[in-house]
Amino acid sequence: MARGTPERRTISIHCAGCRTLLYRYRKGGSGGLIKCFVERIVEDRTAGDLTCPKCGALFARPGEIAGRPIHKIVQGKVFTRGMRRK
Ligand SMILES: [Zn+2]
Repeated sequence: MARGTPERRTISIHCAGCRTLLYRYRKGGSGGLIKCFVERIVEDRTAGDLTCPKCGALFARPGEIAGRPIHKIVQGKVFTRGMRRK
């Protein structure tokens, strides 16, 4: 497999405080996670209020880009798994 092949992969987004799974998300590109397009969230384990269902930490803020709703990630509040292939 060539490195740097553009592809989408599904990553897991977890609360940085208590490690609870928040979203499974289909991410494009290889950069860091700054925002989530709502339409690419494939599994939502939250109550939809952008807070961790376990510890209540606010991990994102609502926004939009070109009319598409996004969640802007609050840096340091989440960590991701699955960004790189083994
Ligand atoms: Zn939490």
